[in-house]
Amino acid sequence: MDALIVKIAEQSGLKHMLSFLKLRKKTPLILSAEKHGMNKGYVEKGVLDIMNRLRRGGFEAYLVGGCVRDILLGKKPKDFDVVTDARPNQIKRLYRRCYLIGRRFRLAHVYISRDRFVEVSTFRAVIDTEPGQENGFAENNIFGTMDQDVLRRDFTVNSLYFNSADSSLVDYTGGLRDIRKKILRSIGDPERRYREDPVRMIRAARFSAQLSFSLSRQDLKAALACAPLIAEANSSRLLEELYKILRCSASARTFVNLNHFHLLKHWLPELASDKQLNRLVPRLEVLDRLRAREVEIPNFMLITAAFYDLFRDAIYENTDAPVFQDAFVLLGQRFTPLMVRLRVPRKDWDRIRNMVSRVPAFTGSRSSKRWKSFEKRFLRNSHFEDALNLFEIIVEATGENSRDLQYWKQRFSEVKRSHHARERVPAAGVDADGTGTTDD
Ligand code: ATP
Ligand code: MG
Repeated sequence: MDALIVKIAEQSGLKHMLSFLKLRKKTPLILSAEKHGMNKGYVEKGVLDIMNRLRRGGFEAYLVGGCVRDILLGKKPKDFDVVTDARPNQIKRLYRRCYLIGRRFRLAHVYISRDRFVEVSTFRAVIDTEPGQENGFAENNIFGTMDQDVLRRDFTVNSLYFNSADSSLVDYTGGLRDIRKKILRSIGDPERRYREDPVRMIRAARFSAQLSFSLSRQDLKAALACAPLIAEANSSRLLEELYKILRCSASARTFVNLNHFHLLKHWLPELASDKQLNRLVPRLEVLDRLRAREVEIPNFMLITAAFYDLFRDAIYENTDAPVFQDAFVLLGQRFTPLMVRLRVPRKDWDRIRNMVSRVPAFTGSRSSKRWKSFEKRFLRNSHFEDALNLFEIIVEATGENSRDLQYWKQRFSEVKRSHHARERVPAAGVDADGTGTTDD
């Protein structure tokens, strides 16, 4: 039957259908632990317990996606995804602390500790869509089997299934070979996969930077052809991808890739010139170093790190010594439309403007008569610490103004120390909090 369909597809020139059918025809490679060499020691006990319970309930359970890929690369996975043939309600019945989420496609969060959960989802199949109709990855799928589930996944290296029962690895797509060769390759016809969900191109830029993999030649060609489609993608998904990039410890290289794949000019055209990139990359390298040390960086700071040059240029456009109020108003006028387009929450944008407008004060003259009283209020302002953290990133990226940074860090630690000392003596009754929002 399959042979007949393949023949018809060949004759009618349906190239993409053909590549899917060829995959579907394939029986998977099942590799034993000695053959794939994956270290099960990286899988947390809580995760193994969840899988055992599924199996005791009569269901299949596999680890899939980024966690399998990362373990094969010898890295500690950041989270674990389990797939099973159990339906959401059947999953729920097996665990005490299990919550079903999602409206159309429900999946389970099973808690392994107070604040950590494992995502357990049911195998899914994809309903075929016309190219150009973005499926948002989760929109057009129904429950299915493992050999259908594999076809909806993005890259071969993300499509390996690890069976903890016998430690075997199920490989339908040649993912293990691609991991060994360090190649990132779409499952099926790359152009079709990118048209179906253009966000995959951004994921390709990130994964190749993060894993030091090269994109397959066909994928690169397809990405270059499909790059303009990114402009139509869903803005909330794009914002989530932007945060993922800025947190992945390889954001500088991801941006270089995004530019190379021509995605940047269609997604974030404000950052796409060589001039902007040359200034941006050193700042991203600072973020990457912080993330490599697992420092948490909030979303509003990530957005600021990405767009700081635009903000700075605007603030300094007509003056060498910007004043807080003017800078605050100007940022609002100039960049609110950009933040609305990116879907940055209003509360984050307010915090960004408050922070960025205070940075010029760090390098301004400290000799005026009114300086002392300004400095006191500035140091106690609720946005001071944000601004100092941003200034530190900028100083580290540019190598300029490090004396100013030392000065302010020193002053701030003194204020904090005296604040703590006063807190320990309640009778002192001093209001140490100068919490103006937009004033110093
Ligand atoms: P990361 O380390 O960034 O979490 P990941 O591979 O685990 O990498 P997730 O976004 O957590 O990425 O997605 C989990 C899995 O779901 C992927 O490995 C992939 O198989 C699949 N997936 C995620 N997004 C898409 C998409 N847009 N199209 C197809 N498959 C996807
Ligand atoms: Mg993941």
